[in-house]
Amino acid sequence: MGETREIYLKVSESYLASSIQIPVTVIRGRAPGPTAFVLAAIHGDEINGADIVRRLMFDIDHEKLSGTLIAIPVVNIPGFLAQSRYLPYHRDLNRFFPGKRKGNNAERIAARLFNEIILKSDFGIDLHTAADGRVNLPHIRGDMTHPRVRHIARAFGAAVLVNQAGMPGSLRREATEAGVPTILFEAGETRRFSNRISAAGLRGVLNVLSEFGMWPAHEQERPPFQVIVKASEWIRAEKGGILDLNVRPGDLIYKGDVIGAILNPFGKTVTQLRAPTTGIVIGVTTAPLTVPGTGVIHVARLKKTLPLVERSLKKSGKRARRRL
Ligand SMILES: [Zn+2]
Repeated sequence: MGETREIYLKVSESYLASSIQIPVTVIRGRAPGPTAFVLAAIHGDEINGADIVRRLMFDIDHEKLSGTLIAIPVVNIPGFLAQSRYLPYHRDLNRFFPGKRKGNNAERIAARLFNEIILKSDFGIDLHTAADGRVNLPHIRGDMTHPRVRHIARAFGAAVLVNQAGMPGSLRREATEAGVPTILFEAGETRRFSNRISAAGLRGVLNVLSEFGMWPAHEQERPPFQVIVKASEWIRAEKGGILDLNVRPGDLIYKGDVIGAILNPFGKTVTQLRAPTTGIVIGVTTAPLTVPGTGVIHVARLKKTLPLVERSLKKSGKRARRRL
């Protein structure tokens, strides 16, 4: 017999002497199976994942579930309330895992979540968006040299998988090292819900649950290709000015392509931006102004997999735009 429970996990206290509690929905399926966590908004302004979790809780019925799903729409409560990435004192919660019970405020919150949720799971998915002022192509990040992480990442069904274990102290890295393989979904932008990205995120999570026998198998919509990329780099502006960008997330760009220009206030081109490498655009700035060093485009480099990507985009009739 399955059941769904909504609980609050107390992780801290506020200046008003009230509890800071994380809302947690625990869905225990009718049949036995693995335990998985899906959580969002470790960065308090990256709220699109909260909409993915909401859709997930709406779709998942404990009668049809095998195993246990732990769903958390918002982890970083102070950041969420302030619409900020950070905890108080400008601390990035995603640098403090696995946390410390008697440590600073961020370490204590991290330790509660890590001990009560993460370590009780078999695997997990951490939902993010691009940082403030940027927008990302939906993609997966994780340690792709880890066979179980790679299995989860492939099952999610995104086209681009970036092989990045994550910074020390990040949830995905520390959870994976503690024996709970975890992937990160990066998509969209801060302080927004995008219907397209919520749908892609929900589909990916359900794909993973099906792959591990937790959810009935369904017709999986596969991406036109799937590549693991080992390296990504930011293309930065060399000049200050007004940005006129020609590319979007998902575009395939070739080394030497003109991908934009930086203009002066008279509208004259100060400098052209050229692609220093061949790859898929996985993130772009949403801010139209630059100074020397502003990150403008985030590119995942393609080498051996380039022909596969070219063939797939051609087949799906998107060659003219070379866009995913
Ligand atoms: Zn984030």
